[in-house]
Amino acid sequence: MRKIQMVDLKGQYEGIKDQVDASFQQVIENAAFINGPEVQQFQKDLEDYLQVKHVIPCANGTDALQIAMMGLDLKPGDEVITADFTFAATVEVIALLQLTPVLVDVEPDSFNIDPEAIKKAITPKTKAIVPVHLFGQAANMDAIMEIAEEHNLYVIEDNAQAIGGNYHSKKGKTQKTGAIGHIGATSFFPSKNLGCYGDGGAILTNNDELAHTIRGIVNHGMYERYHHDVVGVNSRLDSLQAAVLRAKLPKLDSYNEARKKSGNKYSEAFKGEEDIITPVLLDKDDTHVYHQYTLKIKNGKRDALAKHLQERGIPFGIYYPIPLHKQKAYADSRYNEADFPVTNQLVQEVLSLPMHTELDDEQIDYITGTIKEFLNA
Ligand SMILES: *Cc1c(COP(=O)(O)O)cnc(C)c1O
Repeated sequence: MRKIQMVDLKGQYEGIKDQVDASFQQVIENAAFINGPEVQQFQKDLEDYLQVKHVIPCANGTDALQIAMMGLDLKPGDEVITADFTFAATVEVIALLQLTPVLVDVEPDSFNIDPEAIKKAITPKTKAIVPVHLFGQAANMDAIMEIAEEHNLYVIEDNAQAIGGNYHSKKGKTQKTGAIGHIGATSFFPSKNLGCYGDGGAILTNNDELAHTIRGIVNHGMYERYHHDVVGVNSRLDSLQAAVLRAKLPKLDSYNEARKKSGNKYSEAFKGEEDIITPVLLDKDDTHVYHQYTLKIKNGKRDALAKHLQERGIPFGIYYPIPLHKQKAYADSRYNEADFPVTNQLVQEVLSLPMHTELDDEQIDYITGTIKEFLNA
């Protein structure tokens, strides 16, 4: 059996080596390392793929979130609601911009922000909601957009884990995640579903005015050379990264398909296991792109299982072990433990298994066999 890895980027590279090597060579020959033609071409390719009017490439997913928020007319102290159960980048940028993060609980099946909890957290200072499509499954965008419209709030989708996923609205419209809210932010960190060979990210929007504002912000607040109209940042996707992304984008659907196939095989193998709750699909299977395949391990057995996997050399992840509201940096007297029952339980139960495009049946059988043997011993 091939060695099991949490993510196998080397194996994936083998399948696109000729193209990636040639485009790297081309970038080096052209020596346009910043803002080379690859960057503009990738931008267009991604706009077509996501069916979104504007893609603004930037340096990473955290920057994408920060710049998205800088593009809105928010003032210090304005409140931004996001999920308690996510990677810290989401809440970090809110706090960095001197906005007030308001963390709310998530839903037990989808792990995504709970629209009822959003409603309860809205105050006159609330200005935006940041749903995260966690582990690759779309959040309840119908409900979130409805709440936003009613209260006149912006919606910034954190799409770092869900690129390529679809969302089917109640009205029958199908859209790519990240292209539904006022702005979307995504990451091309190597292990993401569409990853480059370093850091990268992008901001997505269908709003022309916002796109214009944001294009200036990523480039030192310049709308005309050496005229700085707003305080901006320097956040660029470099040409080598754009070249990798151009080679990988046409494969994204098949990559996501491979993840789904592995996810389904895992879930099939765990059917009937008392201690395991497999990922719950809330809609059609094109609404989950399995950035992570995350189980809930019941009956207090998660940590013992994790130890056993470690001993057997099977990689796994605990995403995430601590609720954000319990992190020192984001503590706030407004939080009440009784408001976070789901997150507080999830952090004790979640366990993510190896998930990437190169997993084979033998590896999955070994992983599922080892887990079942341990839980039934
Ligand atoms: C990866 C990730 C980010 C940050 O992306 P970087 O490119 O690493 O800065 C933000 N939000 C979520 C949910 C992520 O998974």
